[in-house]
Amino acid sequence: MRRSVRLAARAIEEVASQNNKALQTSGQAITINLKEKEGNYSRKETSSKSETRKSKARKRARAKSSTEQDHNEKKGGYLIKSVATEEKVKPEIKRVKTEPGVHATIKSEDKLNFQPLHEKLIGAHVSISGGLHNAVSEALAIGAKAFGMFLRSQRQWMSKPLQDKDAELFKEACSKANFSPHSILPHGIYLMNCGSPDEETLSKSRATLVDELKRCERLGLCLYNFHPGSTCGKITLEESVGRIAESINQAHAETKYVVTVLENMSCQGNTIGGKFEELRGIIDQVQDKSRVGVCLDTCHAFAAGYDIASERGFEIMMDEFETIVGLKYLRGVHLNDSKGDLGCHLDRHENIGKGKIGVEAFRRVMRDPRFNGIPMILETPYVSENIYQKEIKQLYAMST
Ligand SMILES: [Zn+2]
Ligand SMILES: [Zn+2]
Repeated sequence: MRRSVRLAARAIEEVASQNNKALQTSGQAITINLKEKEGNYSRKETSSKSETRKSKARKRARAKSSTEQDHNEKKGGYLIKSVATEEKVKPEIKRVKTEPGVHATIKSEDKLNFQPLHEKLIGAHVSISGGLHNAVSEALAIGAKAFGMFLRSQRQWMSKPLQDKDAELFKEACSKANFSPHSILPHGIYLMNCGSPDEETLSKSRATLVDELKRCERLGLCLYNFHPGSTCGKITLEESVGRIAESINQAHAETKYVVTVLENMSCQGNTIGGKFEELRGIIDQVQDKSRVGVCLDTCHAFAAGYDIASERGFEIMMDEFETIVGLKYLRGVHLNDSKGDLGCHLDRHENIGKGKIGVEAFRRVMRDPRFNGIPMILETPYVSENIYQKEIKQLYAMST
């Protein structure tokens, strides 16, 4: 069992680094010109901490009606334009703060008995070696209340179909161990690039997305996390974002209820999702907004330039997340310290408290009720026996 946890951890690191190399096909990073504006906008929002939530909301509403339109006209940015459109056409997705642990209602998910929880659901990415149900026993063994896993081999496009027997074993194991669907956050294979400039890769990625969402549904799971994609330096950011959203729309049309959860990235190479504006750009173009969410990876956020090592930096990030993406879209967290420095753009995970983010930052996260009731998954290096068990214990101790 320990060996397979180690293998899973190693697989995450190895494949992530291979993937990052592959995604850096061009040294020319895509830049988007919205950061500065959004940064100012968001800082304005956070400047008066003593404001009540209501007055903040009023201020945001005023800001939206004036400044966003101005930004849009000045910058011609796809994001702001689509936000402005959203305000007119889809008023129901206004960025409203949700109560801690209470998620947006998911229309077609009632069968899954989705209930908000008011506690931290901490776990780790575990191995499916020997069968999907083994992930459940591993999660139990390390004292996890949540877990992540791959749904099949993550190194190849093709995979053998999921057998009914295996799906049943997995569901039984989850039910016995009391893991409800919203505490499980499966991870998509790294080969996928749903924003790819290459038609063949794009079509393989889209087929994989549908296949994996269908697997989730057969396993009784309601969340599915994946990396948005990359321009590979060959198409514009807007084109790639459009392809990602279209991939999600197509996959939603072919499946019933699973929520596609976009992971924020580290701004490495040409990857998309390092900036919250990029995630928002995708969400804007997803038709069924009840089936899209975001998983916040702490290492990726830090490497992308959010200084969550400091209290102020953490607040700025959370305010930007709320303003740009919307807290109701937060459906999971990846808990990783960072080997790389702030803003280094490198996706290099480190054990909790051993990296540049530091233990105090994780204490803040653990005490923040905005993370209640969603899976919080460790993807840290497997440096010693029982490391996940120790880290989970350490994190739970911080939350009280
Ligand atoms: Zn990931
Ligand atoms: Zn991650």
